Amino acid sequence: MSFQPDVAYQTPMTPKCPKCGSLIYSRRNVLCGVCGERLPPELLFTPQQRETVERDLQVLKEREKEMRRRESEALPGYDGGVDIGGF
Ligand SMILES: [Zn+2]
Repeated sequence: MSFQPDVAYQTPMTPKCPKCGSLIYSRRNVLCGVCGERLPPELLFTPQQRETVERDLQVLKEREKEMRRRESEALPGYDGGVDIGGF
């Protein structure tokens, strides 16, 4: 097992609200979710990081949408109004 301790130091610590000290789980938030304090920019994503996250989310959403669309298209007689007797 090749454990590399250096990697751990590169990972930023979970940021905390400077006012109430609660952990900030979402760095996309501009305000503290607990006390509503405006968070200092160094705790938040940089615009570049934010852009990357937004883009990733967008890609995921598009992919999900595409999957849903294919699923509904794949269903036979889904919108054909096929009358299934018996139920
Ligand atoms: Zn707070």
